[in-house]
Amino acid sequence: MQLLPKKNGYKMQSFQTRNLSQELSIELNCYGANEYTKVSFPVKYGIFSRLETCDYIFEFNLNHEIRHAKSKKRTWLHPSEWIKRTMGDDWVYYSTGGYSGVFEALGEYYLPNLTYPTNSLLGGKPFEETEIDDIARNWHEVISQLPDTGMPVEFSQWIQSIQQQSPEKLQKKAQKLFEISGSRVTVMPPDARHVDYNIIPLNISDGCLYKCRFCKVKNKKNFSTRSEQNIQQQIIQLKQLLNKDLINFNALFLGEHDALNAHCDLILTTIQDAFDAFEFQSSYMKKNFLFMFGSVDSFLNAGKIFFKTLNHLPFQTFINLGLESYDQSTLDLLGKPLTQKQVGQAFEKVQIINDTFSNIEITCNFVMDESLPDSHYEALMTLIRESVNRTKPKGCIYLSPLKFGCPSRQVLYDFYKLKSQSRFPTFLYLIQRL
Ligand code: SF4
Repeated sequence: MQLLPKKNGYKMQSFQTRNLSQELSIELNCYGANEYTKVSFPVKYGIFSRLETCDYIFEFNLNHEIRHAKSKKRTWLHPSEWIKRTMGDDWVYYSTGGYSGVFEALGEYYLPNLTYPTNSLLGGKPFEETEIDDIARNWHEVISQLPDTGMPVEFSQWIQSIQQQSPEKLQKKAQKLFEISGSRVTVMPPDARHVDYNIIPLNISDGCLYKCRFCKVKNKKNFSTRSEQNIQQQIIQLKQLLNKDLINFNALFLGEHDALNAHCDLILTTIQDAFDAFEFQSSYMKKNFLFMFGSVDSFLNAGKIFFKTLNHLPFQTFINLGLESYDQSTLDLLGKPLTQKQVGQAFEKVQIINDTFSNIEITCNFVMDESLPDSHYEALMTLIRESVNRTKPKGCIYLSPLKFGCPSRQVLYDFYKLKSQSRFPTFLYLIQRL
């Protein structure tokens, strides 16, 4: 056993055993990276514990819940790839995509491959690979067979604790997460990629304003805001749910589909309350991030004082707007009840906010599909190329393929063409749930 330095109250400890029947290595409270970075090799964030057997590497959060796994067998697709279990209890396979344009397409070096239908244009079906399917299904069986004797007490206790976090228990915990806010996060903002989608979801509102015909993530709820009491209750319950692992979080997502349409006082008070309650000032992870969705109406209605106040909060804030198209015939085709003029006004204001406030980035979504008229792409070009005369470092444009489960070479080709002409950082929007 090796004793390592103690930080943040978590003592790093490691233990190895090697005998004929079982090779085992345990590292408790590893200190991963404390700042989200974009690099082309696997980085693990936060404080976590690692268990390595002859065949597998498993990682667990501070609540003893599995969060990453990979196989060491030769049949594993790639040594730098792994699976991650999300807070909503989905397994996601992180692939390098063979480094074939994943970073250019997504702004990240790793491509999340999901187990449910989405609008991804890249990647394959890794969960159909035996080795990946096997580890996602049977990880608990593997750790259930581990010995918990013949080692110092802290290690045997830790093994017992990870064994107790069974798939059934983790599934129930995910269910509890959805119950706290009253629904599952069916779509995360694309900007959540900056924190590897490790967000705390807090609903200050429900529903959205437009109920666009094309949208696959909407619900039937008319837009409404939550009461302060309801928000406080969610904060308390989320804190209990995250428990010891709270220290690994530094990002808040204000839900649901148009949090920006809530009253500005409610937004600002909630941000401050969440910052205090989730103890973001003492998070292991550096910097704090805030994500929310907005709509053309809520964004145009938001005043300068609101953005000024937001800019002074201890967060890097990302607000994602679904503009979809700057072409009236396409807006009508999509069933988005907006005019081209409103979209143009919103885009103009986006530039002002992005140029004025260093801690705020407004990002915009536009749709892509082979079936859309040329006028959609021509109008898009006037916004993302002709409206500015130089390359902009912020104000990401996300292009979102309309169809789910339908990767198309043509749409991917169109994306790269648009990206090469855009004067804004331009990426694909991969729709993911939490
Ligand atoms: S695109 Fe946005 S506003 Fe339109 S239905 Fe979907 S969630 Fe609602």
